[in-house]
Amino acid sequence: MDLFKKYEDLQLRDTIVKVDLNAIAENMRLIKEMCGPDVAVMPVIKANGYGHGAVGIAPTLMESGAAYLAVATLTEALELRQAYPDYPIFILGHTPDRLMDIVVEQNFVQTLADLSQAKSLSAAAVRAGKTAVAHLKVDTGFHRLGIYDEEELFEMTQQPGLEIEGIFSHLALTNDEENLKQYDLLVAMIEKLEARGCSFKYKHIADSISLVDYPEYRMNMVRPGALIFGLRGFHKGFLPVECCITFESRITQIHEIKAGEGVGYDYLWRAPQDTRVGTMPFGYADGYPRNMRDKGYVTIHGVKCAVLGVICMDQVVVDLTDVPQAKVGDVGVIYGSGENQMTIQEACELASTNKNEIVARILSRPPRVYVK
Ligand SMILES: *Cc1c(COP(=O)(O)O)cnc(C)c1O
Repeated sequence: MDLFKKYEDLQLRDTIVKVDLNAIAENMRLIKEMCGPDVAVMPVIKANGYGHGAVGIAPTLMESGAAYLAVATLTEALELRQAYPDYPIFILGHTPDRLMDIVVEQNFVQTLADLSQAKSLSAAAVRAGKTAVAHLKVDTGFHRLGIYDEEELFEMTQQPGLEIEGIFSHLALTNDEENLKQYDLLVAMIEKLEARGCSFKYKHIADSISLVDYPEYRMNMVRPGALIFGLRGFHKGFLPVECCITFESRITQIHEIKAGEGVGYDYLWRAPQDTRVGTMPFGYADGYPRNMRDKGYVTIHGVKCAVLGVICMDQVVVDLTDVPQAKVGDVGVIYGSGENQMTIQEACELASTNKNEIVARILSRPPRVYVK
């Protein structure tokens, strides 16, 4: 028996991630509107949809006109395929040669970064009597995935059983000059291959930041990740996308502690005076950064309540001094967009990371609750 099916109507944890599907749809609409009808939008929902729950948000994105749903890994693609037998799914990352048969069997569109990968996918397609769809990854300077070798790229397009539907690269976003150099390198390679008879339905290089800041690099497909979730990384352009996530928990227990008593491992926080503290069931295993110690806060009844002591794997203790009315069961917002709530932007600054990492860290443990 599937126990999670059995109990699906119950909220199994007090720590949840609320996702606003209307906001996701609106962000997608804004992106499509900005890019115009000639540019396909391929939302990137790797890392469990940047923490928003890939399976839960996928239908909203498809209904909003996504050309593909892009993920980083084969396992992420399979998770989506299990839920959606017919969705077009694109794998941005490297799939090991030994697993190419799965790519063919599940009709994933695969990124190919060199000739040996193209040959593996081709062999798998021939074995299955199918055509595998793939995009070529051109290395224009990032030096992560891809090659910049006309002969090898051309040969990749000539393998039996493959439809090379697209060609792409990724910007390092170093500066305007370097971006242009990368873009020009991609365009030059496409022109060389086209001169030899290749044709590509999709050509793409822009992620969230570049599609807003550099309209000239949108080509005919864009790959927004962060932007879909309202995370604004752009600098030059602007798009009023909104954050779609509220991460929240509830008070499970309240302790009245005496001045001088400690809280948590090593008693790293000690009460300067008699203090009322509340325990909440979330921790670094839920993706809350451990280095929020001495910096983080949770918003209860609209008031910022500091997290006390070290962040544990599953629990956090907060100071309830300024919310005397707080009781067991009350909600505390960990990240949100309301008044006095910690935004993803603030969280990334406090934890010394970037916005994508803050949300992607909330991988799978807290249940997702979708609101429409
Ligand atoms: C993750 C990723 C994206 C999306 O990046 P954002 O900065 O979140 O928009 C686009 N393209 C590739 C190849 C990626 O790996």
